[in-house]
Parts: sequence; structure tokens; C-alpha cells
Amino acid sequence: MTEIRCGACERLLAKGSVVRLEIKCPRCKALNHVRAENPSKSQEGQSKEFSRDASDL
Ligand SMILES: [Zn+2]
Repeated sequence: MTEIRCGACERLLAKGSVVRLEIKCPRCKALNHVRAENPSKSQEGQSKEFSRDASDL
């Protein structure tokens, strides 16, 4: 099972398999975009990108 973690503070946001997910970290308010490039691959095939949502701070 894949752990979805915040790209900014490493807080665990979710667990499971994800194709596309947009989730805001409740701790640091960073908006995390998570998507699996190749779902048939292992966890290594997952890419994460995040952008800090400064307007919310
Ligand atoms: Zn965070």
C-alpha cells in the first residue's frame, strides 16, 4: 500500500493506491498533487509535486 505524504512536511495524508489526487495538508497548508504515472508499477512509479498555497496562510 502506498503512503501519500505531504511534499513539504512529510505528514502522512492518506494510504492506498491513487491515480490522481489533490489534497491539502492540514498541518502546513501545502497543496499536494499526487498522481501515479504507471499504476501497474510499484510505488516507485509514483510522482509527487506540490505547491505551497501561500494565500491560505
Ligand atoms: Zn504538510
